[in-house]
Amino acid sequence: MSTMTERSVDVLLIGGGIAAATAARTLREEGFTGSVLLVGRELDPPYHRPPITKGHLQGTESKADMLIELPADVEVLTRSSVMALDPTAKTVTLSTKDTVTFEHALIATGAMVRRLPLDGADKDGIHYLRTPGNADALRKDAGGARRVVMVGGSYVGCETAASLTTLGNHCTILMQEEEPFDRHFGRTAATYLRSVLESHGVTVRGGVDVEAFTGEGDVVQGVRLAGDEIVPADVVVCGVGAIPDVLLARKSGLPIGDLGGVRCDARLRVEGFPGIYAAGDMCEYTSTVHGRELRVEHEEHAAAQGATVARVIMGSGDPHTEVPYFFSDLADWCSLEYVGPAADWADEVIDGSVEEGAFSVTYVDAQRRVLACLSVNGSGDLDAARERIASREPLG
Ligand SMILES: Cc1cc2nc3c(=O)[nH]c(=O)nc-3n(C[C@H](O)[C@H](O)[C@H](O)COP(=O)(O)OP(=O)(O)OC[C@H]3O[C@@H](n4cnc5c(N)ncnc54)[C@H](O)[C@@H]3O)c2cc1C
Repeated sequence: MSTMTERSVDVLLIGGGIAAATAARTLREEGFTGSVLLVGRELDPPYHRPPITKGHLQGTESKADMLIELPADVEVLTRSSVMALDPTAKTVTLSTKDTVTFEHALIATGAMVRRLPLDGADKDGIHYLRTPGNADALRKDAGGARRVVMVGGSYVGCETAASLTTLGNHCTILMQEEEPFDRHFGRTAATYLRSVLESHGVTVRGGVDVEAFTGEGDVVQGVRLAGDEIVPADVVVCGVGAIPDVLLARKSGLPIGDLGGVRCDARLRVEGFPGIYAAGDMCEYTSTVHGRELRVEHEEHAAAQGATVARVIMGSGDPHTEVPYFFSDLADWCSLEYVGPAADWADEVIDGSVEEGAFSVTYVDAQRRVLACLSVNGSGDLDAARERIASREPLG
């Protein structure tokens, strides 16, 4: 029989992802000697998510390989949710019914997969990817050269199609946009990425609307498109985006911004609540580098924000000035790196050779100021791009 406890810590880290884990590491690296408690609701302690669609799905990276090392003197509670947060009294209640008071709290609850509320959505064989367990279930289900249909032509859809193709599956990507990654990278890069996927046997179909999942009984057998065509499928993977997990934040009265994240200032302090910070996928902050509000869903960005919060807790007055970066791999066919982000742009400057798959795309505004840069197969100078994004100097 468990008994309820009340305790207090100096720093409470809510959520067991990379943002919280990096905050814990940075606190210790920078010499913080107070007590640190990390509370996460997953089965596993903090781990890297990117291998879920890559090495872990392909079976080359185990769950143990994905774990993030934490200092021994950081207390970690897994399988425990923060159920209630009183940001003024500075106390939380856990799913164990224990209460914890704190001096500082980082809320880093990440994001949840966006689900497609279509007819047939509850059939067996339809997968979403957020955890290593999701990837294990998909690999098992897709085993044996089966037909896998991806709904969504962005990172999850394209990376998963590449990984499952290397395992012998036949993969089809269905997406509303005309080309994969179109919305992120523009037409030149998107057309190139389609050619990479197709040259390895992936079927890519743009400009289609998925209306329902079909099949006799409980098991999915196809995906119905607008116009009634049915694309046969033994397995379906939906990669249609993530939703910032602000359930706890909203319930606690923390401010939610227009981009769907918890509203923070340039130092990632939650507006109106001293001692409360946010980082990662659900943090919406004022970027002094970009001169606007940002919310970014990428691993290194989440880590960098966790580190910023640790420093701010230790008294730093510096804003978060990291230019967001991410990478994506389509099996070993192609690697992408990007700094930015740019939601729209006036022009694309291409350097290198698109035909040879060794090029970069620099996205500029009407004044030719650099907004973002995509490097394909390591061809771009991302450090130079970072500097230009931060300086806002027009390209020469
Ligand atoms: C399949 C996949 C592949 C990806 N690949 C890439 C990639 O190649 N490159 C890249 O840059 N990014 C990639 N990303 C994105 C990257 O993983 C995320 O941006 C990053 O994980 C965000 O970290 P976070 O700490 O903000 O949140 P999360 O990793 O979501 O962690 C938040 C944690 O908090 C927990 N939690 C939520 N509420 C509570 C609560 N009330 N109490 C306790 N715990 C709670 C959640 O269960 C979760 O474990 C990928 C993401 C996915 C899903």
